[in-house]
Amino acid sequence: MKNIKEYNLDELQEEMLALGEKKYRAEQIFKWIYVEKIKEFDEMTNLSIELREKLKKEYTMCNFKILKKQEASDGTKKYLFDVLDGNAIESVLMEYHHGKTICVSSQIGCKMGCKFCASTGIKFIRSLTCGEIVEQVLAVEQDIGDKISNIVFMGIGEPFDNYENVMRAIKILNNQKGLNIGARHISISTSGLVPMIYKFADEELQCTLSISLHATNDEKRSKMMPINNRYNIEELMKACKYYIEKTNKRISFEYALAKDNNDNLNDAKELVKLLKGMLCHVNLIPINKIENGDYVKSTNENIIKFRDYLNANGIVATIRRELGSDIDAACGQLRRKSLKE
Ligand code: SAH
Repeated sequence: MKNIKEYNLDELQEEMLALGEKKYRAEQIFKWIYVEKIKEFDEMTNLSIELREKLKKEYTMCNFKILKKQEASDGTKKYLFDVLDGNAIESVLMEYHHGKTICVSSQIGCKMGCKFCASTGIKFIRSLTCGEIVEQVLAVEQDIGDKISNIVFMGIGEPFDNYENVMRAIKILNNQKGLNIGARHISISTSGLVPMIYKFADEELQCTLSISLHATNDEKRSKMMPINNRYNIEELMKACKYYIEKTNKRISFEYALAKDNNDNLNDAKELVKLLKGMLCHVNLIPINKIENGDYVKSTNENIIKFRDYLNANGIVATIRRELGSDIDAACGQLRRKSLKE
């Protein structure tokens, strides 16, 4: 059966016409799903019973089941969802002063193999469909009874390895007649799939692009992130410069600081050299040690020194707040534990 959440409004109009229904039915359905946030076709009370029955035969609502929900002491909530085919994914809801942010997954598992990330070592199963990406936002909004204002594609998976579905999901999430989450409030993070960075630049979307950089030379980066063997730092920077030129938007570079690996002042110096003059921002992440992982968190003192060096040398850098660490909801910690339990 088809998932009704795979369709943007214009596509749903086509679907209704194909079913021999009036086009305006699509807008009614779209509003029930994304504005009223109902879960069953039978709740669409302005549709005839016949039409509701017809819809039930054609489509599912794809309502994720919450397998587990954990709340951290800082209010961060981690959801483990049953995606209805026996697989599970996680989404994390974080509270910031500017609103609620959801961190969504784009794939079940990940192929990138970054050495410091908890998604590594777990089998890649498949990419999520666009409806399954959208459903994470809807399911959390339904659960909390409130609106989510920001979305980050920083959960499990590599969003640019599921490019088309991620783009389609963004367009549905954007729709003003639906959830109406503006592109400016959506961030996509990539480990550096260079051809997709060019493609994304050409979309000229208002989303924020984050690049997981983590090291300043190929030797170090390849050790941490195998993707660097495919697209090295020089190629990555070239793509980033193209993106900035094309969109005039600032890139956010993520740099996870690991003790005695990439956190000394020499690394900071190299980072300044690499990013000098670029329209960008550096997001420093205290690395979260994963089970059996080689990388451990830098000392607070080193993290602050690193940030101060960047700021003093013309690179805007901030340290990312660690949310949800007591429930394993912090960066890179998703999924592994839940699978073992
Ligand atoms: N695949 C995408 C998005 C998912 S990861 C990407 O690589 O960008 C989101 C961010 O968390 C990335 O910057 C990633 O490098 C970082 N991350 C992963 N594991 C981490 C860990 N153990 N500690 C800190 N950051 C981590």
